[in-house]
Amino acid sequence: MKPVYLDYAASTPVAPEVIVAMQECLGLEGNFGNPASRSHLYGWLAEEAVENARAQVAELLNADPREIIWTSGATEAINLAIKGAAFAAKRSGQGEHIVTSTIEHKAVLDTVNWLAQQGFRVTKVAPNSAGEITAEAVQEAVEEDTVLVSVMHANNETGVINDIAAIGAVVRAANAIFHVDAAQTFGKLPLDMGTLAVDLLSASAHKVYGPKGMGALYVRRRPGLKVEAQIHGGGHERGMRSGTLATHQIVGFGKASALALESQEADNQRIAALRERLWQRIAQLPNVSINGGDAQRLAGHLNVAFHGVNGDLLLAGLTKIAASSGSACTSASVAPSYVLAAMGLSSQDAHSSLRFSLGRYTTEEEVDAAAEVIVDTVKRLLASQ
Ligand SMILES: *Cc1c(COP(=O)(O)O)cnc(C)c1O
Repeated sequence: MKPVYLDYAASTPVAPEVIVAMQECLGLEGNFGNPASRSHLYGWLAEEAVENARAQVAELLNADPREIIWTSGATEAINLAIKGAAFAAKRSGQGEHIVTSTIEHKAVLDTVNWLAQQGFRVTKVAPNSAGEITAEAVQEAVEEDTVLVSVMHANNETGVINDIAAIGAVVRAANAIFHVDAAQTFGKLPLDMGTLAVDLLSASAHKVYGPKGMGALYVRRRPGLKVEAQIHGGGHERGMRSGTLATHQIVGFGKASALALESQEADNQRIAALRERLWQRIAQLPNVSINGGDAQRLAGHLNVAFHGVNGDLLLAGLTKIAASSGSACTSASVAPSYVLAAMGLSSQDAHSSLRFSLGRYTTEEEVDAAAEVIVDTVKRLLASQ
């Protein structure tokens, strides 16, 4: 028996409907042509599939399809957004100050840290104790020559949602560019580019039942917003991202987006109820609390501090559950989660925290089985300490 999968925030399985759509783009009988081939039917059909997917992704954002740039994932979209906008702004003499937060994904933090080595000034805003990056905190951090602000929509570890409408208004007033890492929220929360003051937004397919290695950057069409290419070679994607388009990946992302548009509301309701069921069982244990429990959170996230329990022993004891201690991307290191530390948790409490994340295919039976294992394991560890 495989462990119960409670790590949907790290990655999701590809939806069966998406697999079918992707397979249709691979073989001799399928839509395998190069979308950039302009001289024959194979190319035209591939291009049509790519543009259909672009419209599907754009619809989920209420954006113009021409504002969607395909990338190899959210990490690449984030690199393109932050480096591309920062260098374009610097070149046009607008300034070289960047604002972000201390709880961003490594894709953002490593990118701004690299830009700091290239001469940019970087200010990192800390979250409040609930794990939120507030508009007030961003307001305090922006300066005269701030060119770019990058704040995530929801945090991958806690699921805490930031008010990007309010932050966007602050960034607009400061005349800077606003990038949002929406890898955790694309296809999960409504994102309306018609009303949000967001200029750049990064999304990932594999967090929303699409394939790994696929993402997109939304680039608002507005005067003065320029994003310099980071990958050169052929001028695909309006010159912003060269490389032959991966038709099957793109079609999969498009299909996943269309499915999300249909089901995100119902999914969220069902997932939130299952999460509550899991929490009610865990809450019977002594000294447990939800990290980010005072804030608005994504439906599937449950980040629990088991105060006084060794988190590594706990995770090691939970062989029947696939969950995550801290962020999946840093699970190779034993340092406590920098996100939980920034929220004010002690190193010990951060080490005692686990992230359970539920998704579209989580069942009540799985939740009950997981709850039983968690409660038994924690009780056993507490008794042996
Ligand atoms: C997963 C994730 C990323 C990276 O996305 P990839 O498509 O895996 O490169 C970036 N930011 C957040 C918040 C994420 O959850």
